[in-house]
Amino acid sequence: MRAYRRAARSAWLWPEEAADLLAQDRQLTELHGVGPFMAKQISRWIEKPPKLGTIPPERRDFMALADARKILQAKPEWSQKLRGDLQMHTHYSDGSGSVREMAEAADARGYEYIAITDHSKGLKIAGGIDEKRLAKQTAEIAKTNMSILRKGGKVTVLSSIEMNLNPRGEGDMDPRALAKLDLVLGSFHSVLRVKHDQTARYLAALRNRDIQILGHPRGRIYNYRLGLSADWPRVFAAARKIDKALEVDCYPDRQDLNVALLKIARQEGCRISLGTDAHHPWQLEFIELGLAAALKAKISPDRIVNFMSILQLKAWVGKLRRAR
Ligand SMILES: [Zn+2]
Repeated sequence: MRAYRRAARSAWLWPEEAADLLAQDRQLTELHGVGPFMAKQISRWIEKPPKLGTIPPERRDFMALADARKILQAKPEWSQKLRGDLQMHTHYSDGSGSVREMAEAADARGYEYIAITDHSKGLKIAGGIDEKRLAKQTAEIAKTNMSILRKGGKVTVLSSIEMNLNPRGEGDMDPRALAKLDLVLGSFHSVLRVKHDQTARYLAALRNRDIQILGHPRGRIYNYRLGLSADWPRVFAAARKIDKALEVDCYPDRQDLNVALLKIARQEGCRISLGTDAHHPWQLEFIELGLAAALKAKISPDRIVNFMSILQLKAWVGKLRRAR
């Protein structure tokens, strides 16, 4: 069991497909997390793939980094449009890096901006922060931006938050504190296993005056939770009408929105935001999973929030705030 779990966790990030290695007569044990026992199992699966129907629904429609890279290599100009990453955590909540470490990792990737989105106070289990800690972080971000600028760095850190939303779409933070941020994400973290239609919940969240982006909309997690269901065309159409964005959380075991829902979002024309949900600086590379999903779903580049310049991004947030 442990060998299976270890290999399954590593498989997201294998730089090459196991099948490609076999085709080149190479050993599967080259892959991280694969010993001789797992190598034999994987070869068997590749020879005789399991039928789709036998794969549990909570494991379907995910891609690995190797898949994403193949998709992105076919159209390099797509990835070049990316200006930044709009969801990540620091040690203020449940991340392991500092604001500065996240900024340095983003600068190394050539980003124009990142948004720091730690959890809000209602999510105690993830060390959510209150208004006071948020203000402290915003001050630290301002200092970090100054010091990056002095050292010739290009990236700007945006102060933001992943505000916890209850199932009625209400947040848990003082709107005056939120209005001081560059950007606000709202996400559901509770009552995620209900089976009946949740359209009303999504419409309420989109109407929430304090948020611009709805984070990891379905709340699915690989092999653990299928996530919520809704009348998706209606949800995306509502987002389009009030010009708010839904997110692709690019964390490997989330990939939420996934390609199937992104295709519906493309038809309805709503904005899409990409966020890695990184909890360590190195995890910024997860952005490729979201970039590839958006490309595969043929989302128009002008609908992707992260393809905007920092000025356009701020203008969009300002417009939404004035409209409420
Ligand atoms: Zn979250």
